[in-house]
Amino acid sequence: MYQLEGEEYLEAVSYLSLAVKYAQRSTCLRGRCGSILILNDTLIGAGFNSPPGNDESQRRCMNDKSKLHARVTDKTCCVHAEQRALIDALRSNPEKVQGSTIYFMRVNQEDLPLSSGRPYCTICSKLALDLRVKEWVLWHEEKIAKYGAREYHALSLSYTEPCA
Ligand SMILES: [Zn+2]
Ligand SMILES: [Zn+2]
Repeated sequence: MYQLEGEEYLEAVSYLSLAVKYAQRSTCLRGRCGSILILNDTLIGAGFNSPPGNDESQRRCMNDKSKLHARVTDKTCCVHAEQRALIDALRSNPEKVQGSTIYFMRVNQEDLPLSSGRPYCTICSKLALDLRVKEWVLWHEEKIAKYGAREYHALSLSYTEPCA
């Protein structure tokens, strides 16, 4: 991981702002996220989290996850913004996914940006690694950070609850 500065920082701010615009379209009731995929200064995929197929009958945001069996691999409610961005890129720009950079942001219920949080989503970190995405960019309160895809996956797997 390294902290972005100068040109790279300004570029990341503009891409994270675009990710915010997608997050503002999220309909998830637990957390609203947006993600974009960039290769060579070009947007190649984007997405926000919401129920599968944006189908209200598939909404499970308020279900009790603790009742799910350990074998249920994905305990989140909606399709993830990062999954959507990757799927979008695979549909529209399949040859550009390898080597791309993924940006991730969250917004609150008032559409205001929230920091991205620390990496913890192993579903998306694994998928990005499989698709040979090069790196991840997250906004942490004090900095914008870039992570290599392998590093991001390892950090996600070792996530622990922050101290209260
Ligand atoms: Zn949800
Ligand atoms: Zn995810």
